[in-house]
Amino acid sequence: GGVVQADVHEGLESTLVMMGHKLKHTQIKVTRDYDKSLPQLMMYGSELNQVWTNLLDNAIGALGEDGAIQITTSSDNGCIKVDIADDGPGIPADVRSHIFDPFFTTKAPGSGTGMGLDTARRIVEQRHRGSISFDTGDGGTTFHVWLPLDGVKK
Ligand code: ADP
Ligand code: MG
Repeated sequence: GGVVQADVHEGLESTLVMMGHKLKHTQIKVTRDYDKSLPQLMMYGSELNQVWTNLLDNAIGALGEDGAIQITTSSDNGCIKVDIADDGPGIPADVRSHIFDPFFTTKAPGSGTGMGLDTARRIVEQRHRGSISFDTGDGGTTFHVWLPLDGVKK
């Protein structure tokens, strides 16, 4: 897959469909707060879907059987901003500085490769000239992704 011009919400929704099998045996609720007035974006569509997959997979893993995921889109400083929030346990303070490191995982052997966030960051930063960060605490974790409207040239 190469560069496509598309609505960021389409990719989020098709990713959620792909992840339906993981969600359907849980009580996890996904809510959306989409700004449908956002313009389309030049994007590496399938790679961006990998970003959403990796962030949602982590949120589901943090929540386990029950909880809430909220996906919010907005316009921010020439960027489309996507926030993926969970109300899970948060990221322990001592691991926060390592979560983007390749192969860093707190999951049991065999259940996490530790490549999800490294991959997501490379796609956001190198392919889309965007940025990714997170806020975390007792109330959960939110990942923020900024995708510049002029980040990808056809
Ligand atoms: P993996 O999911 O294979 O462990 P990732 O790179 O996707 O690798 O994530 C690295 C680590 O970051 C996870 O093992 C976990 O400790 C932490 N993490 C990522 N997202 C969350 C989240 N939403 N809530 C709590 N911890 C998270
Ligand atoms: Mg992961």
